[in-house]
Amino acid sequence: MSVGEVCKEIESRSPRFVESLRKLVKQPSVSAKGTGLAECADLVKEMMAEAGIEAELIGVEGAPPFVYGEALAGKPGARTIIFYNHYDVQPPEPLELWSSDPFAAEVRGGKMFGRGVSDNKADIVSRINLVKVFLDSGGLPCNVKFVIEGEEEIGSPHMPALVERHAERLKADACIWESGGLDEKDRPEITLGMKGILYVELLSRVANRDAHSSLGAAVANPAWRLVWALSKIKGEDERILVPGWYEDVRPFTEKELEALEKMPMEEELIKADLGVEEFLLGASGMELKRALVGGPTATICGFQSGYAGPGSKTVLPSTASAKLDFRLVPDQKPGKLLKALESHLAHQGFGDIKIVPLSQEEASRTSLDEEIVHCASEAASRTYGRDAVIKVSSAGSGPMYLFTNRLKIPSVCVGCTHAFENAHAPDENLRLDVFIKGTEWVARTLDLFGKRDP
Ligand SMILES: [Zn+2]
Repeated sequence: MSVGEVCKEIESRSPRFVESLRKLVKQPSVSAKGTGLAECADLVKEMMAEAGIEAELIGVEGAPPFVYGEALAGKPGARTIIFYNHYDVQPPEPLELWSSDPFAAEVRGGKMFGRGVSDNKADIVSRINLVKVFLDSGGLPCNVKFVIEGEEEIGSPHMPALVERHAERLKADACIWESGGLDEKDRPEITLGMKGILYVELLSRVANRDAHSSLGAAVANPAWRLVWALSKIKGEDERILVPGWYEDVRPFTEKELEALEKMPMEEELIKADLGVEEFLLGASGMELKRALVGGPTATICGFQSGYAGPGSKTVLPSTASAKLDFRLVPDQKPGKLLKALESHLAHQGFGDIKIVPLSQEEASRTSLDEEIVHCASEAASRTYGRDAVIKVSSAGSGPMYLFTNRLKIPSVCVGCTHAFENAHAPDENLRLDVFIKGTEWVARTLDLFGKRDP
């Protein structure tokens, strides 16, 4: 059966696709609270088995089960694509802001609403069901593997162990990552990488308890100490002041710069959406794109100390803490930067401030020359009748580096989500037309990848 016919079959089975998505969304799987994870893993495994995919659960101590699956193309020398997804979801709170129960998977106006529907259950259902369509229509164009974890939303703490222990089984010629889909103007968008992250908490403690603020004349204030320490981390010009921070930053290639030039950026839309007058340092155009796609950042995510309730309270706090995330770009090493941050603060006279690392991930970036990138963009043109936007990297982070940097598998985001999906927010939703079209996009990508000579 031709891939065109496979796509027709996907369309004719769309009610079944929607039904199985509804079933998966109705199974809560909140990793932050540990609810429903084992049940959800079982359900995903069952869906795979029903689709003719050989499925099993892989255990890693302390983690909810990983679901692993394999289906073969049935022709010798076939290449392999691995799908990475996650079945866990963010907590649905605040519940009062949802228009319907977050686990009811209600369909209204061509969209399904529910926690996790687009992040990332639609991709799971789309990919499992499309394998079934291929298998029912004469066979897969290439071998496929699935690895689906249950802790992505809490930073994938056990993915490194899985990749280390099962490197051989996870081997593939290319990886199709979670997410990917249509941008704000319904252009298909292919993302080729992710930023890394170093997340730390800084703690300043002085006295053994809070005291009367008249003692501010005599006893150090941890909140001031922390503010001064923070001011040594980033300057007002947005440059990170830690020595060596930019040393390993990999510059953009010529092709990446070309892709950046072509990448549309809805600056006005983003500003209006956030209610901001201008971007940092007044940046726009290429400058802004370079920063978002390939610029290291230092962000204070939260600051806590003393009294911040109604009215006034004259108190000298005993502790202060701040949470910071540093987004990293290819070749920056989080472990090395953590050490650099520690010695910088010590040199600046802030050795008393404790630095607690909370998470570390390297950045990943797949080359524009990779076969899978060509296949995904050609498949986008054939599916949507318009050229795909190539995004050199997401401004966000994820465990993609385990595939690109450790397993050396080029990875791309191609999928069935859309820009206004409200991921992580109330009324998360999925456009059902994009669900089906995105499935066809992945089907065509597999088809092209299977046909090309390595
Ligand atoms: Zn998410």
